[in-house]
Amino acid sequence: MKQVSVREKVCRNCKRIVSGDTCDVCGSTNLASTYQGLLILIKPELSEIATLLNIKKEGYYAVKVK
Ligand SMILES: [Zn+2]
Repeated sequence: MKQVSVREKVCRNCKRIVSGDTCDVCGSTNLASTYQGLLILIKPELSEIATLLNIKKEGYYAVKVK
């Protein structure tokens, strides 16, 4: 069973949920530890929200970064 890590952070640049200290999408180290909402993108190329947020890679994203 997968446990949700308390060390999860969110990239302020592209809003991707990351588990390390560097965003694996844009390479940014500008991470926030608090965020609201979770967006799961499976096919970003078909998603209007992904287009709006300029997300091109599937995965987990925060809706709002604090
Ligand atoms: Zn990023």
